[in-house]
Amino acid sequence: MTEATTDRTALTDGGRDVVEHRQLVIVGSGIAALSAATYAARSNNDPLLFEGDEPGGQLTLTSEVENYPGFPEGIAGAELIQEMKTQATRFGAEVEHGIVESVDDSGRPFRLTLTNGDVYTADAVIVASGASARTLGIPGEDELMGQGVSTCATCDGAFFRGEDMIVVGGGDAAAEEASFLTKFADTVYLVHRRDELRAEDYWADRIREHVADGDIEVLWNTEAVEVHGSPEEGVTGASLVRHPEGHPTAKLDADETEQLELDVGAFFIAIGHTPNTSFLADTGVVCDDAGYVQTVGGAGGGQTKTDVTGVFGAGDVVDYHYQQAVTAAGMGSKAAIDADEYLESVADGVTGEAADATPADD
Ligand code: NAP
Repeated sequence: MTEATTDRTALTDGGRDVVEHRQLVIVGSGIAALSAATYAARSNNDPLLFEGDEPGGQLTLTSEVENYPGFPEGIAGAELIQEMKTQATRFGAEVEHGIVESVDDSGRPFRLTLTNGDVYTADAVIVASGASARTLGIPGEDELMGQGVSTCATCDGAFFRGEDMIVVGGGDAAAEEASFLTKFADTVYLVHRRDELRAEDYWADRIREHVADGDIEVLWNTEAVEVHGSPEEGVTGASLVRHPEGHPTAKLDADETEQLELDVGAFFIAIGHTPNTSFLADTGVVCDDAGYVQTVGGAGGGQTKTDVTGVFGAGDVVDYHYQQAVTAAGMGSKAAIDADEYLESVADGVTGEAADATPADD
């Protein structure tokens, strides 16, 4: 850890107190953020992580991770995160409670304001704030999350071999997850609130094939209203409603609305993710229409660069496609390497990237 950046004496910057200046701030505390932190700490970039409002990220919602390399017997998601945190802090990374509310990239260093009003400055920022799986907000969902309710079929599907399963959603993710789950499930019930899938033709065709094979049954115009079970016995079933014109929960009192009960052993929610990027709204970091951070990508160095020099992106906040622990960890390490190269170029007074930075008085 370098000494210059660990002094917590308040600095004055533009009339506002700055709690601390760091070489590198990492926004997030999931697997991408922690992987970045280990690499950055070992590169003497003195990383400070802000945990956000979902400390540890989505893996903490997963019971057992069986596909992370190096753990042949599997490892609990929360334990994997804890081990990675221990590893990162062993090399000097610091993890703090705190939610970054905004980033000011109009000058250098960057200014990060937390929801409690604290301001930190940083020479470089890695955005690894993840994407939060959307949930339904129905009874049983929170209580049974990780105990039969899941937002990740790839992570949890194999635990429910031979059971009937529900997948909620009608997009690519739901279609892909339902198709994947046919490997394990007796029957997969794909529950969609309308009468046509949003999923692209490729996935709609896969669903049709599985329906023809008897692996998947699509419950059109149907929504789940409650998940049944207990943490001890897991999911035992779900209550659903159906209306011939769709969106049945908006028509619960209508005569045509029917109630259904299904006995299932697992309940997967695949209704999309919300990338945690609202704090970047006033920056030059470009996000796609859904809010995911856009990075350079491709081959060679600098894949995690964003449109703002000195800001890098990694993990699910960038990648809506792979969304795996191992891919997020890999991208976190890339972001730390890219950030290290950037910080070195600035320290060396290399004009290239450093000159791209917008001057403070612009
Ligand atoms: P999405 O495209 O936004 O689809 C979400 C689905 O969930 C929609 O069918 C939506 O219904 C339904 N839904 C949303 N809120 C709901 C609620 N409260 N109750 C019930 N149903 C609800 O999300 P996604 O499938 O996660 O895909 C996100 C992005 O990732 C897309 O760009 C997608 O193409 C991409 N993706 C690609 C692949 C692939 O190509 N392999 C795999 C996964 C994701 P409505 O249709 O009625 O709105």
